[in-house]
Amino acid sequence: MENLLQSTSLVQRAYWLVKLRWVAIATLGIATFVAGNVMRVSLPVSALYIITSVLLVYNFILLRYCTRHAQEPSPHTIGRIITFQISADLFILATILHFSGGIENPFSFFFVFHMIIVSILRPKVQSYVQAALAVLLFGGLVLLESWRIIPHYELTNFAGHGLYKDSTFVLGMLFVFAITLFLVVYMTTSISEQLRKQQESFEQANKLLREKDQVKNEYVLRLTHDIRGHLAAIESCIDIVDDEIVGPLNPKQKDLIDRAYHRTTKCTAFVTALLKLTRMKLTGRLEMGFFSLKNAVLDAVTAVQVKAKEKSIDLSYELAPSIDEVYGEEVLIEETITNLLLNAVKYTPCGGKVRMEVKDQAESVLLQISDTGIGVPQEDLVRIFEEFYRAPNARAIERDGTGLGLSFAKQVVERHGGKIWALNNPAGGSTFSLTIPKQANKAEQVGDQKV
Ligand code: ADP
Repeated sequence: MENLLQSTSLVQRAYWLVKLRWVAIATLGIATFVAGNVMRVSLPVSALYIITSVLLVYNFILLRYCTRHAQEPSPHTIGRIITFQISADLFILATILHFSGGIENPFSFFFVFHMIIVSILRPKVQSYVQAALAVLLFGGLVLLESWRIIPHYELTNFAGHGLYKDSTFVLGMLFVFAITLFLVVYMTTSISEQLRKQQESFEQANKLLREKDQVKNEYVLRLTHDIRGHLAAIESCIDIVDDEIVGPLNPKQKDLIDRAYHRTTKCTAFVTALLKLTRMKLTGRLEMGFFSLKNAVLDAVTAVQVKAKEKSIDLSYELAPSIDEVYGEEVLIEETITNLLLNAVKYTPCGGKVRMEVKDQAESVLLQISDTGIGVPQEDLVRIFEEFYRAPNARAIERDGTGLGLSFAKQVVERHGGKIWALNNPAGGSTFSLTIPKQANKAEQVGDQKV
């Protein structure tokens, strides 16, 4: 319960009440107009329009109040605003009912909605207090009208049968009214309490998972860092032997050493990719600044060109002339584009095509890399962004792969406040798209987040 009170969603709930009230105000205005002008029910129309106007002003004030507190919500303040709003609404509803037939007005059922709302938004005790307040307000109103202490406004043409004077009817109605409100509060608070408990246990489980993930990442970081050091040492030893600095090798020995070297470089690449991804997940900090996206794109194309030529792949690109500087970490963005281009070349058969288009979209830049390659099985289009996941068709044609490149790309793009996704082309092959916001504000917020 306390958890719920501390959550910012409470602010959203205060807003939600304000929004609901706009609907109620519109309904009141329209209902008054229809009842007075169309149904010709005798009503103190001007009094009801005055209440509508007061409600309008009151809701504007509340909206401003909530907006001011939206930045630093103190659970206590927001809780107080909600309680105040509900109590005030009960009072306003009772006033409206007074001017529109009192006990004879079926809109008295609207108290039930208030009870549901308060039971969802506030603690149990407060909900019962509000139910008591509703019974007191409505009961007081109908009794005072029944005893002729305050005037009764009859709904002639609708319910002008003088029922409000019949004390048996009034007391009977009040009894049912009170029972209904308390029952509604009891049922709704029981359900919301169960939901709150469930929410708390989900939050707890989520917290635990995040803590475990953190521990796992720290462990992987230490491990990959150490392994990379050892691999670098092994690689340089093999290199010396391979270069025959320590003595000549016979062809069999040379072949074995070459194979060992090849395997070691693959292993180093995998460990390095894992290290980079884990480091990014752990620290999440980006070194942001404005940089030329055009240059980053050109550098990425140059880096991949050799591999494309080896497979006779036609690698082309088109850059919108307006594309200039964006805000982000240049090295990471360039690396991401290079990764996507390398993938496109890797998963496209010889003689195919890879095309990159960079489009200007007012607030952000859209980068799309399409190829005529093997495509991604429909059911894997989302999964390929998961760590270590490789689609079966990719595994079949390319044994070596880390399954980490796209997870890294996703981390980078999302930390820049952008999105990344993959789709298959109708004519074959796939298109990988990503957006990067041009401006600082959004990107910075995401970049500063800690995992
Ligand atoms: P890797 O390429 O090392 O397997 P990635 O994380 O870069 O790892 O990619 C994950 C998976 O996404 C690949 O194994 C492959 O199934 C799929 N994939 C990525 N790029 C493409 C592409 N251009 N065409 C088809 N499949 C792709």
